[in-house]
Amino acid sequence: MQFIDHHTQQTQIKAEIDAGIANVLAHGQYILGPEVRDFEAKLADFVGATHALGCANGTDAILLPLMAWGIGPGDAVFCPSFTYLATAEVIALMGATPVFVDVHRDSYNMDPNSLKQAISEVRAKGDLTPRAIIAVDLFGQIADYPALAPIAKAEELKLISDCAQGFGSTLKGAHPLHWVDVQTTSFFPAKPLGCYGDGGAVMTNDAELSALMESLRFHGKSDVPYDTARIGLNSRLDTLQAAILLPKLAVFSEEIKARGDIAARYSDALVDHVMRVPHLIDGAVSSWAQYTIEVPDPVALSGRLKDQGIPSARDEPGPTYRRTAYADYPVAGNGLPNTMDAAKHVISLPMHAYLTVADQDLIIKAVQDALAQ
Ligand SMILES: *Cc1c(COP(=O)(O)O)cnc(C)c1O
Repeated sequence: MQFIDHHTQQTQIKAEIDAGIANVLAHGQYILGPEVRDFEAKLADFVGATHALGCANGTDAILLPLMAWGIGPGDAVFCPSFTYLATAEVIALMGATPVFVDVHRDSYNMDPNSLKQAISEVRAKGDLTPRAIIAVDLFGQIADYPALAPIAKAEELKLISDCAQGFGSTLKGAHPLHWVDVQTTSFFPAKPLGCYGDGGAVMTNDAELSALMESLRFHGKSDVPYDTARIGLNSRLDTLQAAILLPKLAVFSEEIKARGDIAARYSDALVDHVMRVPHLIDGAVSSWAQYTIEVPDPVALSGRLKDQGIPSARDEPGPTYRRTAYADYPVAGNGLPNTMDAAKHVISLPMHAYLTVADQDLIIKAVQDALAQ
């Protein structure tokens, strides 16, 4: 059994993927070829953006807007600590200061009250200038943007959705971009919409920001021929990856539905056996990057599942702010109690659109049995 089964998906759309790759080999435009433009247009359409740009990975996707806004030393950027470390990494890489904010205990996404507290603490201290907020759509669920966006607006801060895990998730039908300045994503193979290597994208309704990021992803290229306007990156989405992503995007909405059905089945069967099953905020549709439950002892459960050939994932490295490289950055309040508590208990079960009912039942029974002992 696989944690995420790429093979079954591939067998279902293999003809389209093979034809896409063959086309690229035939025309030979490996960098920013026609498939990239085609995919960017379809991606923009999918989230309701006026602009979408491919880039090299989901980390660069969060880096690009920070570069475009000139965020650097002396600036504070607020982000959660219960996330993949790339969210804070790009802030530190720009020379700015990540300020870690706690998450909501139920949804695992940024807690608006902790955010407000962190912003007022930074303003009171006065050594850093608040510039931006990076919210994360963790495990596939959209963050509470109707609560976060007004805070960003009132505080005159930019708002990014790091949607590497939540791509495809919506709130009352709207994607994160509806509330934020820029939505970013990753096409790392294990993400809800993954390619066969590294890839990422930024989506925005801001034409000026898009033009800046388009320049930045290509060494700061200028509109003036042979000139370079700014210091940039080499961060493009390969044409081959765009060709692979096109047929994957075409089945993505169906896959989100299938994942949602599996998640509902899991939750019905497990709700009385575990400490917590995933909690969706009102009106949210998750893309289920992970199906994550909480148990008293995730290490023990993962061992028992492994004995039966069932893979699972724990939060082994722990929250970013507890790691050596990030230990000196500021934290909202006197610590992040919800982040620490959640990190102790979470464990994710196999989740992908092609998980058979038989495998689902096997997993459910194995979890129930393990926790009954
Ligand atoms: C995976 C991930 C990233 C980084 O994406 P890469 O494509 O691996 O660079 C950033 N943020 C979050 C929340 C992620 O899960």
